[in-house]
Amino acid sequence: MRQMKKKSKILNVAIDAVTNKEALEIAIGYIESSSTKKIYTPNPEIVMMAQTNDSIMRLLNEGDLVVPDGIGIIVASKIKKLELKERVAGVDLVDNILKFCAKEKKSFFILGGKPGIAELACEKIKELHVGSVVAGYFHGYFKETEDEKILRKINDAEPDVVFVCLGAPKQEIWIDKYHKEIHCKLIMGVGGSVDIYAGTVKRAPQIFINLGLEWFYRLIKEPWRFKRMLVLPRFLIKVLFS
Ligand code: UDP
Repeated sequence: MRQMKKKSKILNVAIDAVTNKEALEIAIGYIESSSTKKIYTPNPEIVMMAQTNDSIMRLLNEGDLVVPDGIGIIVASKIKKLELKERVAGVDLVDNILKFCAKEKKSFFILGGKPGIAELACEKIKELHVGSVVAGYFHGYFKETEDEKILRKINDAEPDVVFVCLGAPKQEIWIDKYHKEIHCKLIMGVGGSVDIYAGTVKRAPQIFINLGLEWFYRLIKEPWRFKRMLVLPRFLIKVLFS
């Protein structure tokens, strides 16, 4: 079922004011439609990148569904009294889509992660969501000269859904460049989800997620991300003065 979506602009990036449930309904509508649709899951980091990179700004605003990932986006929406209702974490949306795919026998392809990780993730997904149809997988450390080969591999596998896990903004740029050449119903940039399914990265315990502190848990577990996370206060200050 397609729905009319309201957009909220956070530093000029138009983000859909959808709940997790609505995002899933829209994604299912895409999977059941005939053209290729793109879903992006921006967090404050990529919104900040878009401030100085016109091409990232353009491609995010061309997403068919752009969900508010990252609690920072929701805080920004509250500061500006906009309509973003709840955080739609990329990995939660992926899981809901995978559940639907397993039930309806829709196939998926995972592109990304270190060699062996996408394959492991597919195995785990098959255990988790019985009935899953894996169309294929490929690691994310390929050269640009291999793009053609990868496009062929994806198209030969005829997936309904393609999950691109190359980290931001590489995955968004790749999707923007090739979505017209990929024959599928839905293509989605979902960063580190592949590592979570493979089990090489653990998601924060639910209590951290509920308190909006998943970023803090990640900081404790992966302290080298500290520098990357400094963008969060800069983002909020920019929103405050925008
Ligand atoms: N990754 C990849 N190719 C690359 C860079 C990253 O496949 O050239 C993968 C990486 O192995 C990881 C995923 O992208 O599985 C997400 O990386 P990261 O955690 O840095 O991104 P984030 O989700 O935080 O944007």
